[in-house]
This record gives sequence, structure tokens and C-alpha cells, in this order.
Amino acid sequence: MLKAILFDLDDTLIDWSTFTDNWEVREAKHLRGVFDYICREVYPLTDWNAYAQEYFNRVRDAWMNARDSLLAPHLGHILLDAALAQGIPEGALGVQECLNAYNWAAPESTYAFPDVPAALRILRENNIKIGIVTNAFQPMTLRDIEMKTHGLLDFFPECRISAADVGYLKPHPKIFQFALECLGTEPHETIFVGDNPVADIAGAQGAGLKAVMRVKHPTQPLISGLVVPDGAINTLNDLLLLLDKWYPGWR
Ligand SMILES: [Mg+2]
Repeated sequence: MLKAILFDLDDTLIDWSTFTDNWEVREAKHLRGVFDYICREVYPLTDWNAYAQEYFNRVRDAWMNARDSLLAPHLGHILLDAALAQGIPEGALGVQECLNAYNWAAPESTYAFPDVPAALRILRENNIKIGIVTNAFQPMTLRDIEMKTHGLLDFFPECRISAADVGYLKPHPKIFQFALECLGTEPHETIFVGDNPVADIAGAQGAGLKAVMRVKHPTQPLISGLVVPDGAINTLNDLLLLLDKWYPGWR
């Protein structure tokens, strides 16, 4: 019996193909907010470029290390550690302060896929629990800002999980187990929907869930290496039709 569906966030529910900004320029703007906050409220740092370089080096190293370890980088800790490396006294600044000063917002050129709200509404009306599992280095409190902007937040009152909060990235089984505990369902009662063959499909299957791959174009190959999704969809409406086939009478 189907009880729950977990969704990846980026390029599964939120469309990033329309993102037109330069990511580093965008990040630098938020980083500057942290730097200015520190200078104003905490400690007189003098060298913006040194802080920015320290931050970007640490982000790069954290993601490099994560490729093998699957240990999730955490934006707040990197912001703080970069500041400590620039001479801020230990204990003078906290992670949450850094995140507040970062002042994150949804990029203007990203959107929820148009098929998403209607499908989520139908799932919830039919008592299917739904949740989010994202490989983000921002804690969920920051991704929530984007979800609210895109009108998605209220669909997911009970289970929204960012890798940064759990400490593990998909495809590590622990992040999927954490989500299942959050929903209170077993792997065989839960489906995962995502767009990344390794993180989402192989990861979910490794944790015992059925995995459905969202592909943007019907022509995109569905098999990547040895990863074979249990199902493939182009829109979330296709997901509802797939559920009709797998779980007749679910709605
Ligand atoms: Mg994705």
C-alpha cells in the first residue's frame, strides 16, 4: 500500500533551467551581507576579498570532500569558519547569526514547475503523506524561504529535510531513513521522486524505496550507467497516472 511520496526539490519541483544569474555573483552579494554584519556588530574585519576567498575555498573543499564521504557541507558552519579564519575571536559569532545576515531569498528566475501544485494537492487530498529531501548545503530554514516564495511550503507541513541539517547527502541511506522516520512510514510504503540518477534513484533504491525519475524531455535516456529507475515521468501528472497503474484505487 502506498502511504507516502518523498520528493527531491531542485529540478524536480523547482525549475532551475530558467536560472539566469551567475551563482557566484549572487552568492557574493549575500556573503557581503554577512561580512558587513560582522564588521558592524562583531569584529572589525578589514579585508572583504580575503573573507570571500576564504569562504569560496572552504565551500569548494567541502563539496570535494563530500564526493567520497557523502558528509554534507553546511553553509552556516562555512560562513562562521571562514570568519574565524580571518581572526574573529572564538565565541564572538554564532552560526545562526551568520545565516540571518546571509539573508537568503529565492532567485527571481526560478519557478515551481507549473504541474506541481495541482499534483501535490491531489496527493494530499487522497491522504498520501508527502515530504522533501534535498541535497542542499543551506539548512532547511533557508530553503523554506524559497518554498514559500514558490507557493510550495504549505504542502509539506511535516517533512522537509536538507542534507545540511542531517549531515549526510543523498545517496547515503541515512538521509532517506531520516525522512522515513519523519513521515512514520516504511520503505515499501514510500516512493521517491527525483531527477538525479545517482543521488535520487540509486540512493532511494538503496534505502529500499521505489524510485521514479523525473526527466525533462521524453528523449532523455532513462538509464544512466547501471541505474534503472522503477518508473520515469515527464510531469507530476504522469506520476499520478503511474500511481494509478501501481496502486489501483489509491484515489
Ligand atoms: Mg534535483
